[in-house]
Amino acid sequence: MSWLEVEDADVFYGRVHALRGLSFAVEQGEIVCLLGNNGAGKSTTMNLLSGLVRPKSGRVRWDGVDLAAAKPWDIVSKGLVHVPEGRRIFSTMTVHDNLLLGGYTVKDQRAIAERVDLAYSLMPRLAERRKQQGGTLSGGEQQMLAIGRALVAGPRLLLLDEPSMGLAPLVVKQVMEIIAEVNRQGTTVLLVEQNARAALRIAHRAYVVETGSVTLQGDAAELARDSRVVDAYLGA
Ligand code: ATP
Repeated sequence: MSWLEVEDADVFYGRVHALRGLSFAVEQGEIVCLLGNNGAGKSTTMNLLSGLVRPKSGRVRWDGVDLAAAKPWDIVSKGLVHVPEGRRIFSTMTVHDNLLLGGYTVKDQRAIAERVDLAYSLMPRLAERRKQQGGTLSGGEQQMLAIGRALVAGPRLLLLDEPSMGLAPLVVKQVMEIIAEVNRQGTTVLLVEQNARAALRIAHRAYVVETGSVTLQGDAAELARDSRVVDAYLGA
């Protein structure tokens, strides 16, 4: 059995059948990417894992926990931390206070302080701007802050929804490099991206999701050469 396992999951929003027998797995230590176009069901998958939507059928298990039944709060405190699309940082709070908020489920104050330091060491730009209001950061810096805040929660599995959205290519590269480093330091990452090129560079494996099911899967380097992926997601 895999560490994280989604098996034959169906999710409906009213009559909209958003996930149709979706299955995929993640092993500890990996970066796994879900690729897909708008509306393919990527965000729904993230919400399914963090307990924000429930499957009508199928199984969702992570590290022995039935995520289809667990409460969102319990899921976070077990170390599954979700950075939603659009970052959602607190724009009138300082960078530092935004980071501290990531520790709201953590009782150990020393652990929080250590993780804030870790976020600053991974992203020195945040350290330089620690007293600045979140809303005054650039898009890339806001994405870094969202990742930093998630790190303060102590993730064992980090869910990142479209971290490259709206960022210039050079900034996308920086953010991806940070994600790769977070992974090298021991955090498993599930990355949802429309930017297949950037994601496949750092992922170990990937799944292509189309209209709520997986249509292709494999090693990231192999998928990056697969003509079906090249044609549909990587452009000429
Ligand atoms: P995007 O990158 O555009 O967010 P996505 O791959 O993340 O796309 P989802 O947001 O998971 O896709 O949406 C999957 C399908 O479910 C889409 O058809 C979408 O319109 C529909 N959907 C998502 N959220 C809701 C909702 N709250 N109510 C009704 N339909 C929804």
